[in-house]
Amino acid sequence: MKIYYKYIDLWRSIFEKSVKRVVWQGEWLDNSFCAVCQHCCGPQDEEEPFPMALLPSQLHPGLEDDFYLLDPETACLDRRGCKALSTNGCRLPRASRPFACGLFPLVLANGCLYLYSICPATLYIPLTEWIGVAEQAGEWLSCLPATDLRRISLDISAETLADRYIFLHIRLF
Ligand code: SF4
Ligand code: SF4
Repeated sequence: MKIYYKYIDLWRSIFEKSVKRVVWQGEWLDNSFCAVCQHCCGPQDEEEPFPMALLPSQLHPGLEDDFYLLDPETACLDRRGCKALSTNGCRLPRASRPFACGLFPLVLANGCLYLYSICPATLYIPLTEWIGVAEQAGEWLSCLPATDLRRISLDISAETLADRYIFLHIRLF
């Protein structure tokens, strides 16, 4: 997994001395690594786009001005990055962003919560702390209507999950 070690070396050089904190803020994850890292919103290394489902309440005319779209209800991140990224970070209000943006590196996939293993916050924050944060996120997610929850849950293959994600043993459906 060459890409994994590439990022471990990068994160070591950037984050060794920085503040390391993740806090669940009721509806989104406050992650002290993101402002410096910004990897999620920029151009991706992967060939395959990362899907970011939108709820019906987030759809509006001109959606294609905010996001690259996989389909009319699914934004995506790919080698071009995200259209909503500005020089001052994300230009969208939090309510307009895909749910995935407020959760990452927690990822809802196949009805369960996972942790994306390459994120620097995953590497530096102990798993015991992550499980506490994920439980809070899971409680909040479980209050969403079942159709919304299923809509924002990604379909990720068992092979990719094994390669890039840490299973947190929190099942939502
Ligand atoms: S990879 Fe992790 S730290 Fe970097 S922007 Fe994404 S969530 Fe934030
Ligand atoms: S919508 Fe905003 S937070 Fe989400 S990937 Fe795009 S720029 Fe980043």
